[in-house]
Amino acid sequence: MTTVSFVSKKCYVCGHVGRQAEIGVREAGEPQDLDYRAGGVNRSSIYMWLQRCLSCGYVAPDIAVGSEAARSTVADESYRRQRNDTRYPDTINAFLCWGMIQEACGRFDEAAKAAIYAAWVCDDDADHRDKAKYFRERTLEKMDAAQKKGQFLTGDQIGDRLLMVDLLRRIGAFAKAAPLCAEELRKDYDEKTRTILLFQEKLIEDKDGRRHAIEEAFD
Ligand SMILES: [Zn+2]
Repeated sequence: MTTVSFVSKKCYVCGHVGRQAEIGVREAGEPQDLDYRAGGVNRSSIYMWLQRCLSCGYVAPDIAVGSEAARSTVADESYRRQRNDTRYPDTINAFLCWGMIQEACGRFDEAAKAAIYAAWVCDDDADHRDKAKYFRERTLEKMDAAQKKGQFLTGDQIGDRLLMVDLLRRIGAFAKAAPLCAEELRKDYDEKTRTILLFQEKLIEDKDGRRHAIEEAFD
Protein backbone atom coordinates (compact mmCIF):
# COMPACT_ATOMS: atom_id res chain seq x y z
CA MET A 1 0.00 0.00 0.00
CA THR A 2 1.16 3.51 -0.70
CA THR A 3 0.59 6.32 1.76
CA VAL A 4 1.37 9.99 1.44
CA SER A 5 2.28 12.04 4.48
CA PHE A 6 3.59 15.54 5.00
CA VAL A 7 6.78 15.85 7.00
CA SER A 8 8.99 18.67 8.14
CA LYS A 9 12.31 18.53 6.30
CA LYS A 10 15.51 20.57 6.46
CA CYS A 11 16.94 21.39 3.04
CA TYR A 12 20.46 19.99 2.58
CA VAL A 13 21.54 22.97 0.49
CA CYS A 14 20.23 26.01 2.39
CA GLY A 15 18.93 24.67 5.71
CA HIS A 16 15.42 25.98 5.15
CA VAL A 17 12.83 23.92 6.99
CA GLY A 18 9.61 23.26 5.11
CA ARG A 19 6.84 20.75 4.67
CA GLN A 20 7.43 18.05 2.10
CA ALA A 21 5.21 15.31 0.76
CA GLU A 22 6.64 11.89 1.40
CA ILE A 23 5.42 8.73 -0.24
CA GLY A 24 5.32 5.98 2.38
CA VAL A 25 6.07 3.08 0.10
CA ARG A 26 7.28 3.91 -3.33
CA GLU A 27 7.50 0.54 -4.97
CA ALA A 28 9.35 0.59 -8.24
CA GLY A 29 6.41 -1.26 -9.76
CA GLU A 30 6.53 -3.73 -12.61
CA PRO A 31 7.06 -2.06 -15.99
CA GLN A 32 3.73 -1.76 -17.77
CA ASP A 33 4.72 0.04 -20.95
CA LEU A 34 7.41 -0.75 -23.50
CA ASP A 35 9.36 2.27 -22.20
CA TYR A 36 9.49 0.75 -18.67
CA ARG A 37 6.89 3.06 -17.19
CA ALA A 38 5.07 1.28 -14.38
CA GLY A 39 1.32 1.31 -13.87
CA GLY A 40 -0.96 1.99 -10.91
CA VAL A 41 0.03 4.24 -8.05
CA ASN A 42 3.62 4.41 -9.22
CA ARG A 43 2.41 5.96 -12.45
CA SER A 44 0.10 8.52 -10.91
CA SER A 45 2.47 9.57 -8.11
CA ILE A 46 5.11 10.95 -10.52
CA TYR A 47 4.30 14.50 -9.34
CA MET A 48 5.56 13.57 -5.88
CA TRP A 49 8.80 11.80 -6.74
CA LEU A 50 10.84 14.89 -5.99
CA GLN A 51 10.73 17.18 -2.98
CA ARG A 52 11.27 20.90 -3.56
CA CYS A 53 12.84 23.57 -1.38
CA LEU A 54 10.84 26.78 -1.70
CA SER A 55 13.77 28.82 -0.46
CA CYS A 56 16.75 27.85 -2.63
CA GLY A 57 15.09 25.76 -5.34
CA TYR A 58 16.89 22.50 -4.52
CA VAL A 59 15.00 19.41 -5.68
CA ALA A 60 15.71 15.82 -4.67
CA PRO A 61 13.88 12.58 -3.84
CA ASP A 62 14.87 13.38 -0.23
CA ILE A 63 15.65 17.05 0.21
CA ALA A 64 17.54 16.46 3.45
CA VAL A 65 20.17 14.51 1.53
CA GLY A 66 22.67 15.95 -0.94
CA SER A 67 26.25 16.47 -2.02
CA GLU A 68 28.73 19.25 -2.75
CA ALA A 69 27.92 18.87 -6.45
CA ALA A 70 24.25 19.44 -5.61
CA ARG A 71 25.14 22.62 -3.68
CA SER A 72 27.21 24.10 -6.49
CA THR A 73 24.65 23.13 -9.17
CA VAL A 74 21.80 24.79 -7.27
CA ALA A 75 23.89 27.99 -6.99
CA ASP A 76 24.43 28.01 -10.75
CA GLU A 77 22.55 30.50 -12.93
CA SER A 78 21.53 27.81 -15.46
CA TYR A 79 19.91 25.80 -12.67
CA ARG A 80 17.91 28.79 -11.49
CA ARG A 81 16.75 29.48 -15.02
CA GLN A 82 15.63 25.87 -15.42
CA ARG A 83 13.90 25.83 -12.05
CA ASN A 84 11.78 28.83 -13.15
CA ASP A 85 11.33 28.06 -16.85
CA THR A 86 7.82 29.29 -17.55
CA ARG A 87 7.50 27.10 -20.65
CA TYR A 88 7.12 24.02 -18.48
CA PRO A 89 5.03 22.94 -15.51
CA ASP A 90 6.82 22.70 -12.18
CA THR A 91 7.16 18.90 -12.24
CA ILE A 92 9.07 18.99 -15.54
CA ASN A 93 11.40 21.74 -14.31
CA ALA A 94 11.97 19.76 -11.13
CA PHE A 95 13.01 16.65 -13.07
CA LEU A 96 15.26 18.66 -15.39
CA CYS A 97 16.93 20.30 -12.38
CA TRP A 98 17.40 16.91 -10.72
CA GLY A 99 18.93 15.74 -14.02
CA MET A 100 21.41 18.64 -13.93
CA ILE A 101 22.47 17.70 -10.40
CA GLN A 102 22.86 14.05 -11.37
CA GLU A 103 24.95 14.98 -14.38
CA ALA A 104 27.18 17.13 -12.17
CA CYS A 105 27.66 13.99 -10.06
CA GLY A 106 28.60 11.99 -13.18
CA ARG A 107 25.41 9.91 -12.99
CA PHE A 108 24.25 9.98 -16.59
CA ASP A 109 21.91 7.02 -16.01
CA GLU A 110 20.04 9.06 -13.39
CA ALA A 111 20.09 12.13 -15.69
CA ALA A 112 18.56 9.95 -18.44
CA LYS A 113 15.87 8.82 -15.99
CA ALA A 114 15.08 12.45 -15.16
CA ALA A 115 14.66 13.18 -18.88
CA ILE A 116 12.32 10.25 -19.50
CA TYR A 117 10.28 11.19 -16.42
CA ALA A 118 9.86 14.65 -17.98
CA ALA A 119 8.62 12.94 -21.15
CA TRP A 120 6.11 10.93 -19.12
CA VAL A 121 4.77 14.09 -17.49
CA CYS A 122 4.29 15.50 -21.02
CA ASP A 123 2.49 12.30 -22.09
CA ASP A 124 0.01 12.82 -19.24
CA ASP A 125 -0.58 16.51 -19.93
CA ALA A 126 -2.52 17.46 -23.07
CA ASP A 127 -1.07 20.99 -22.90
CA HIS A 128 2.51 19.71 -23.07
CA ARG A 129 2.20 16.45 -24.99
CA ASP A 130 3.97 17.94 -28.02
CA LYS A 131 7.15 18.35 -25.91
CA ALA A 132 7.44 14.64 -25.08
CA LYS A 133 9.46 14.03 -28.24
CA TYR A 134 12.09 16.57 -27.20
CA PHE A 135 12.53 14.90 -23.81
CA ARG A 136 12.75 11.43 -25.38
CA GLU A 137 15.54 12.77 -27.62
CA ARG A 138 17.31 14.11 -24.56
CA THR A 139 16.88 10.74 -22.83
CA LEU A 140 18.67 9.06 -25.75
CA GLU A 141 21.53 11.59 -25.53
CA LYS A 142 21.96 10.96 -21.81
CA MET A 143 21.78 7.20 -22.38
CA ASP A 144 24.67 7.46 -24.84
CA ALA A 145 26.72 9.29 -22.22
CA ALA A 146 25.66 6.74 -19.58
CA GLN A 147 26.68 3.81 -21.75
CA LYS A 148 30.18 5.23 -22.18
CA LYS A 149 30.47 5.19 -18.38
CA GLY A 150 29.07 1.67 -18.09
CA GLN A 151 25.87 2.97 -16.47
CA PHE A 152 22.48 1.52 -17.35
CA LEU A 153 19.20 3.27 -16.80
CA THR A 154 17.16 0.06 -16.64
CA GLY A 155 19.81 -1.81 -14.66
CA ASP A 156 21.38 -3.74 -17.54
CA GLN A 157 22.47 -3.46 -21.16
CA ILE A 158 19.65 -5.58 -22.59
CA GLY A 159 17.02 -3.44 -20.86
CA ASP A 160 18.66 -0.28 -22.13
CA ARG A 161 18.74 -1.60 -25.72
CA LEU A 162 15.01 -2.42 -25.50
CA LEU A 163 14.33 1.05 -24.14
CA MET A 164 16.38 2.69 -26.90
CA VAL A 165 14.33 0.86 -29.54
CA ASP A 166 11.14 2.14 -27.94
CA LEU A 167 12.43 5.72 -27.57
CA LEU A 168 13.43 5.84 -31.25
CA ARG A 169 10.04 4.45 -32.26
CA ARG A 170 8.16 6.91 -30.04
CA ILE A 171 9.97 9.91 -31.57
CA GLY A 172 9.19 8.60 -35.04
CA ALA A 173 12.82 7.75 -35.88
CA PHE A 174 11.71 4.48 -37.51
CA ALA A 175 14.72 4.39 -39.86
CA LYS A 176 17.00 4.25 -36.79
CA ALA A 177 14.73 2.03 -34.69
CA ALA A 178 14.47 -0.71 -37.36
CA PRO A 179 18.19 -1.59 -37.67
CA LEU A 180 18.69 -1.42 -33.91
CA CYS A 181 15.72 -3.75 -33.38
CA ALA A 182 17.01 -6.13 -36.09
CA GLU A 183 20.48 -6.12 -34.52
CA GLU A 184 19.03 -7.05 -31.13
CA LEU A 185 16.90 -9.80 -32.69
CA ARG A 186 20.09 -11.47 -33.95
CA LYS A 187 21.31 -11.82 -30.37
CA ASP A 188 20.77 -14.85 -28.19
CA TYR A 189 18.08 -13.42 -25.93
CA ASP A 190 15.42 -15.24 -23.91
CA GLU A 191 11.91 -15.82 -25.23
CA LYS A 192 10.37 -12.85 -23.40
CA THR A 193 12.91 -10.38 -24.78
CA ARG A 194 12.55 -11.79 -28.30
CA THR A 195 8.75 -11.53 -28.11
CA ILE A 196 9.01 -7.85 -27.13
CA LEU A 197 11.51 -7.18 -29.95
CA LEU A 198 9.28 -8.94 -32.52
CA PHE A 199 6.38 -6.78 -31.34
CA GLN A 200 8.55 -3.68 -31.71
CA GLU A 201 9.57 -4.81 -35.19
CA LYS A 202 5.89 -4.95 -36.19
CA LEU A 203 5.13 -1.52 -34.66
CA ILE A 204 8.14 0.00 -36.43
CA GLU A 205 7.03 -1.52 -39.75
CA ASP A 206 3.59 0.00 -39.20
CA LYS A 207 5.22 3.36 -38.31
CA ASP A 208 3.31 3.28 -35.05
CA GLY A 209 4.79 5.83 -32.62
CA ARG A 210 2.15 5.47 -29.91
CA ARG A 211 2.44 4.17 -26.36
CA HIS A 212 2.03 0.40 -26.05
CA ALA A 213 1.95 -1.93 -23.06
CA ILE A 214 4.39 -4.84 -22.73
CA GLU A 215 1.51 -7.31 -22.38
CA GLU A 216 0.32 -6.46 -25.91
CA ALA A 217 3.47 -8.20 -27.17
CA PHE A 218 2.18 -11.45 -25.65
CA ASP A 219 -1.39 -11.27 -26.98
ZN1 LIG B 1 16.96 24.98 0.19
